Amino acid sequence: MSVELLKRLCATPGVPGREEALRQLVIEELRNYADEIRTDAMGNVIARRAGTGTHPRTIMLAAHMDEIAFVVRFIHKDGFLYFHPLGGFDPRTLVAQRVKVYGKRILDGVIGIKATHLTTPEERSKVIPLEELFIDVGLPAEEVQELVSIGDPITLERELIEMGHFYTGKTLDDRVGLYVMLQAFKSFTQSADTIYAVATVQEEVGLRGARTAAFGLNPDIGIAIDVTIAADTPGMEEHQQCTRLGKGVAIKIVDSYSISHPGLVRFLRQIAEEEHIPHQLEVLPRGGTDAAAIQLSRAGIPVCTISIPNRYTHSVVECVHKADVEAAIQLLRRFLERSAEFQIA
Ligand SMILES: [Zn+2]
Repeated sequence: MSVELLKRLCATPGVPGREEALRQLVIEELRNYADEIRTDAMGNVIARRAGTGTHPRTIMLAAHMDEIAFVVRFIHKDGFLYFHPLGGFDPRTLVAQRVKVYGKRILDGVIGIKATHLTTPEERSKVIPLEELFIDVGLPAEEVQELVSIGDPITLERELIEMGHFYTGKTLDDRVGLYVMLQAFKSFTQSADTIYAVATVQEEVGLRGARTAAFGLNPDIGIAIDVTIAADTPGMEEHQQCTRLGKGVAIKIVDSYSISHPGLVRFLRQIAEEEHIPHQLEVLPRGGTDAAAIQLSRAGIPVCTISIPNRYTHSVVECVHKADVEAAIQLLRRFLERSAEFQIA
């Protein structure tokens, strides 16, 4: 387990469409483990390791690099920045947060809020719509105009820390999935099938990178690695929890956008059972992953998602359990090594 790598992945910005810094990091990490590594026109990083079988099939792994983030939409005459969201934010989680603005240089900022002393009881009980929120970077308007342009990327700011048995921070969706893919790709011994590890772009705005990468690679099998909802917290009934932290890697059965290939689900369960990898089965009522885009590529492709249970998803205090992360790496690594045992029925 390399906490340092996970921390670096979480700290490197990956605003949808502007994943360049993260792309560099992924290339550095995979360079010595891939037979070939390239970037496509969308910005996906594609690393290949050739299969050792006589007729290797193609397996595409996908973990997304981008995070829910913003771009500058408007610069107020007093230097405050208004922003446009890229991905599904809950405005309740945004007020009073620190951000980074990637202008001509990186600026620290805060999402401001009216002092409680000046608010009415009605104001205190209502959520401020995202389009009314603004960022203060602590600089005079002329300097802001000089340093910041419309369209500059903005990310939320929160360092990843270890907390009890958890990791907590921003953007574990999907840096932890990316981390799982990198660690499995670096550690699997060999596969009969050719493995493409794809670090995808623009997932949070509609699975866009995975769609074009899948078309280009035309894989026989697709596996997405992403977080899923763990609602095992007070106020949620047991039947609403979806997954539970610390109960193992989740094998996705269904979400809003894909129904996993039943044969792949069976095979992943079999590996987990035979190799004593803690696992749980996941039915997610709302949400989707890159698997959906891969599945609907060309004439259709068998897919499944390997999920890491995540509390407080799409906030800066996302939490995952260390043991679940380990289980996900192990399951993916053994899947790659044993892929020849899986035949598409
Ligand atoms: Zn995600």
